Amino acid sequence: MRVGCPKEIKNHEYRVGLTPESARELVTHGHEVWIESGAGLGIGASDESYIEAGAKITDGPDPIFAECEMVVKVKEPQAVERAKLREGQVLYTYLHLAPDPEQTSDLVKSGVTAIAYETVTGAEGSLPLLKPMSQVAGRMSVQAGATALEKAHGGRGVLLGGVPGVMPAKVTVIGGGVVGFNAAQMATGLAADVTILDRNPEVLEKLAMHFESRAKTRFSNLSNLQEAVCEADLVIGAVLIPGAAAPKLVSRDLLKQMQPGAVLVDVAIDQGGCFETSKATTHAQPTYVVDDVVHYCVANMPGAVARTSTYALNNVTLPHALRIADLGWKKALRSDPHLAEGLNVHAGSVVYKAVAEELGYDH
Ligand code: NAD
Repeated sequence: MRVGCPKEIKNHEYRVGLTPESARELVTHGHEVWIESGAGLGIGASDESYIEAGAKITDGPDPIFAECEMVVKVKEPQAVERAKLREGQVLYTYLHLAPDPEQTSDLVKSGVTAIAYETVTGAEGSLPLLKPMSQVAGRMSVQAGATALEKAHGGRGVLLGGVPGVMPAKVTVIGGGVVGFNAAQMATGLAADVTILDRNPEVLEKLAMHFESRAKTRFSNLSNLQEAVCEADLVIGAVLIPGAAAPKLVSRDLLKQMQPGAVLVDVAIDQGGCFETSKATTHAQPTYVVDDVVHYCVANMPGAVARTSTYALNNVTLPHALRIADLGWKKALRSDPHLAEGLNVHAGSVVYKAVAEELGYDH
């Protein structure tokens, strides 16, 4: 199969659909790989590194959209890209169609076969192609929080791990899923005093077994939450209620009871945020202060570490890309029901039930 990877054109998107290592795997499987010139620059991958991997470099995206049987990307296609997609072509990327009627309508009109990373499933209903970005955001949340705690950034001037003879910072992680687990790993690694709250007893049990005495676990009820938030130097919001907006767990009143210079990192901001005072920020201006509490609410945290994020993403997307290229999309989806869950649009129809229902398409 001829597989192509254009340069991402969404604002401030530095990731790339295929690393040179992934291109090499596809070439080794006997496929042709076309990469747009400069596509890998955001992660430090030169055109030469793709050529060494056996790929061909194209001048601009047009040859890829016109002649490749599968297009591999990171972000949803932008309007100019959607205009180039065509029937019989496979598009393999993040799409997030439910809140995006315009994109959905363009994909339907194009006739393309669109397989969305975010709906490919794994064992026990997990979403393995979303997981690496939660891992990145969870780990980054502690880095971001540690920086914001510095005096020059508005924080209370506390070092997460303390030093011998001085107490470490108190870190409260709300939500112990993928983001929360990774946040706790980083914070315990830095020797902070870590408490993780969750409402799911099984999650609490797993966390307690993993962290043993290195982190405390607490059931997330109003009283425990209030206490853990008020005593914290750093609070990380990492909750998710699938398919719903994040619950507002820290009210403006509770915020007022926090220590001046404490920091809130709201990772759940992409679902509306779990603190009442959260509003989305960007990497250019990541923080703001309300009632003496520093807020960090960047909605695309993985974008700041494009290289790590791209490699983490390729680790989970490449096996499916190889299967699609080796078998053709129909056989690949038939042979793997988890990959089949990724099919969102095909030949002019929305075939993913939740998207069809949300946007009023026949299913
Ligand atoms: P997850 O499903 O793995 O974990 C969420 C956890 O929250 C679950 O364990 C659940 O039991 C818990 N929870 C639900 N309600 C709670 C409550 N009231 N109190 C305490 N815990 C509660 O989800 P995840 O992958 O860890 O993602 C967490 C959030 O981070 C999501 O909103 C996700 O979209 C977001 N996210 C943001 C970025 C970013 O760049 N800002 C990147 C990746 C993920």
